Amino acid sequence: MQMTDDAVRLSVSRRYFVGGAAASLLMGPARLSAAASADRVILLGTKGGPTPSPFRAPASVLIVAGGQPYLVDAPNGVAGQLAKAAVPLDSLGQIFITHDHSDHVIDAGTLLELAWGAGLNSPVTLNGPPPLRQIVHDSLAASRYDQKVRMREEGRRALAPLVHVREFTHGGLIHEDERVTVRAALVDHYTVKPAFAYRFDTQNRSIVVSGDTTFSNNLVQLARGADLLIHEAMYLPAIGQLAGEHAPSLREHLLRSHSTTEQVGMVAAKAGVKKLVLSHLVPAFPTITDEMWLAGVRKYFQGEAIVGRDLEQV
Ligand SMILES: [Zn+2]
Ligand SMILES: [Zn+2]
Repeated sequence: MQMTDDAVRLSVSRRYFVGGAAASLLMGPARLSAAASADRVILLGTKGGPTPSPFRAPASVLIVAGGQPYLVDAPNGVAGQLAKAAVPLDSLGQIFITHDHSDHVIDAGTLLELAWGAGLNSPVTLNGPPPLRQIVHDSLAASRYDQKVRMREEGRRALAPLVHVREFTHGGLIHEDERVTVRAALVDHYTVKPAFAYRFDTQNRSIVVSGDTTFSNNLVQLARGADLLIHEAMYLPAIGQLAGEHAPSLREHLLRSHSTTEQVGMVAAKAGVKKLVLSHLVPAFPTITDEMWLAGVRKYFQGEAIVGRDLEQV
């Protein structure tokens, strides 16, 4: 017997439902809103940089507020990570892109296409810096063949009218609804401008995602008093192993673009956040232990600090 998409989803839901903190997300957005009282923050991936790794998925964050998912960044494989976190792709409505490096945006169009294939029937807004509109447009154009086939054979409505891109070049209030207020701040990602950090204030919690940045006073201001800061981190002693003979120039570039663990500790301390999570780890070698990652942080920040894991709820 052939299973319909809904039947497959239900069967998958039942299997996932027995365990996992994110399992209740499978109930779908409408049913979820009533059930979800606590907000959730899930690290979909925790690796920095464009090269695929066998150890960690590329960094992105899912915030679930009032039962509705809000996604930060769309790196390679993000749709699969959302599936592992038991988040229905057709429940996506708001996506926030920190900047347009491939390890943050390369799957933005792919995610929309796959969400549409999974039944997306409601508008999705992608928020982020230019040239986000061009990136999304070109990606959707590349899958036009599949869209035409599915519209013809499955009676799907067109995908393009469901997709909205909102570009901005300055920080400030980006999005507001009954569940969350989202603010952005310009951060310092060297030559990649503009690049943003985002702050989500829900009824229960304030969550800040740094994006890619070296030490940034704007980020300190944005994160002031936040419950949770998810910050990118670079482990400087291991950078030499990353690029061999190119190490000196790569090291210089990374120092201007990213944050050492000491700088992350400074930001967390200056902002007075309650909890710090290291993510977007560079390099993501398993030989770098949590203690090694956190040693630099602890010189400046005495609050709760952890090294993020893929699919961990923080
Ligand atoms: Zn990055
Ligand atoms: Zn970047």
